[in-house]
Amino acid sequence: MLTIDHEICNRCGLCQKACPFGALSLAGERVAPDERCTLCGACVNACPQSAISIARRQASPEELSRYRGVFVWAECEAAEGLLHPRRVVYELLGRGRALSDRLGQPLTAVVLGDDRLAGLERLCRHGADRVLACRHELLGRYTTDAFATVLAAVVAREKPAVLLFGATPNGRDLAPRVAARLRLGLTADCTGLEIDASGQLVQTRPAFGGNIMASIVAPYTRPQCATVRPNVFTTLPADERRTVCIEEFPVQLARAAIRTRVVETVEIPCGEAKIEEARVIVAAGRGMGDPAHLEPLRRIAQRLGGALAGSRAIVELGWIPHTLQVGQSGTTVGPDLYIAAGISGAIQHVVGMSSAKRVVAINTDPQAPIFDLADLGVVGDARAILPRLLDLLPAAACKETR
Ligand SMILES: Cc1cc2nc3c(=O)[nH]c(=O)nc-3n(C[C@H](O)[C@H](O)[C@H](O)COP(=O)(O)OP(=O)(O)OC[C@H]3O[C@@H](n4cnc5c(N)ncnc54)[C@H](O)[C@@H]3O)c2cc1C
Repeated sequence: MLTIDHEICNRCGLCQKACPFGALSLAGERVAPDERCTLCGACVNACPQSAISIARRQASPEELSRYRGVFVWAECEAAEGLLHPRRVVYELLGRGRALSDRLGQPLTAVVLGDDRLAGLERLCRHGADRVLACRHELLGRYTTDAFATVLAAVVAREKPAVLLFGATPNGRDLAPRVAARLRLGLTADCTGLEIDASGQLVQTRPAFGGNIMASIVAPYTRPQCATVRPNVFTTLPADERRTVCIEEFPVQLARAAIRTRVVETVEIPCGEAKIEEARVIVAAGRGMGDPAHLEPLRRIAQRLGGALAGSRAIVELGWIPHTLQVGQSGTTVGPDLYIAAGISGAIQHVVGMSSAKRVVAINTDPQAPIFDLADLGVVGDARAILPRLLDLLPAAACKETR
C-alpha cells in the first residue's frame, strides 16, 4: 500500500512527474494514488520530503506453506492442425522434476488450448506428475488477456509454490502479466534454478551486463515465478512406465475480456537455418576479420546440417542479422557441436552457448577465455583453418536437423 504523509508533503508535484503510470493526482489539497498505481516506488525515490512510503503485504510462513508444487506453463504451438507442447516445455519439465523431487512435491504441466490439444501424455512421460488441461475455444490462439486470465485462475485455485515459463516471445509476454496481476515477483531469463535448505527457489541469472551472476529469491510471495530461455536445461529421456494423469481445469472466459484480436499470423523468413534448434552451429566472431570470410563457415554449417551464427560484435558490424546472434542479448543455443571461430569468449557470449555438448574453439590468442570451456582448442588463424576443414568434409556429411 502507498502511504503519503500529508503533514510532510508540500505538494511540490515531483512525485506526479516521476510516476510512469500517471497514477498520482491532486485530490483537493492532497496528492493521492489511483488504481493505476503498481507500487513501483518511483515516487518514493522522487520525493524530496520523504513523505511517501510503501508498505508491502508480506505473507507469513504459514501462508507460504499452503503453496505447494512446481508448475510449468506448457506452451503449445500449432503444427499439422494440432497444438503440441513446444520443446522448451520438456526442458522446463526436466529441471522442474529435480526441483519437485527436492521439495517432495508434485510437478504439474499446465496446458492452455482448444480441442486441438494433442500429445499431452508425453508431458507425463518426460517428468510431469499430472497435466492440467485448460480447454476453451478462445484459447486456440495466444492472446495476452485470455491466457493471463486463465493462468491467474489456475494459480488462485491450485496455489503452486513455483511457476515456470519458457522465455519464448509469448512466455515473455505472459509471465509478467500473470506476476503483475497476482502481485508476485518474477525473475526473467534464469540460467539456474535450485531449491535451498529452507525450500526457497534460488533463481540465478546474469546481471549488470553479464558481469555477475545474481541469485534471486522471493521470500514473501508465492508462487515464485521465473522465465527460462530455451536450451538452458536438458530434457529428461521419455519414460514409458510413468503414469499418465490428465485433469481438466474448468475454464471461464468471456470474449469481452479479450481486448485484442489476432487478424493474421505472418512468419518472417530469416534466410538462414534457425539457431535455437540447430544440432551443429558454426559461429563467427570479430576475429574472422571480414564478412567474406564467413562463407566457408556457412558452407561447413550446411554440410553438417547445421546453422551459421555469430557474436554480437559481428551483428553490430552488420555481417549477420540479430536473429543469428548467440548470447545474453541474443539467442541461447544448445547444439551437440558448437564451433567458435574468432570469438573471444566474453561472458555475455558464453551464457548463450554454455549448454552446447561439445565446443571447438579456433583462436589466434592462446589466452582467449573461449578456450576455458572448449573441448577442443585450436590456436591458429581461423581464416586459414576453416577453408581446409571444408575441403576435408565429405559433401554429403550428416544432413539431419533437430
Ligand atoms: C549488456 C551486454 C550484452 C551483450 N550481449 C552479447 C551477446 O548476446 N552475444 C555476444 O556475443 N556478445 C554480447 N555482448 C558483447 C560481448 O561483451 C563481447 O564484446 C562480444 O561477445 C565480443 O565478440 P567477439 O568475441 O566476436 O569479438 P572480440 O572480443 O573482438 O574477439 C575476437 C577474437 O578473435 C580472435 N582472433 C583475431 N583474429 C583471429 C583469427 N584470424 N583467427 C582466429 N581468431 C582470431 C581474437 O584473439 C579474439 O579473441 C554483450 C555486451 C554487453 C555489455
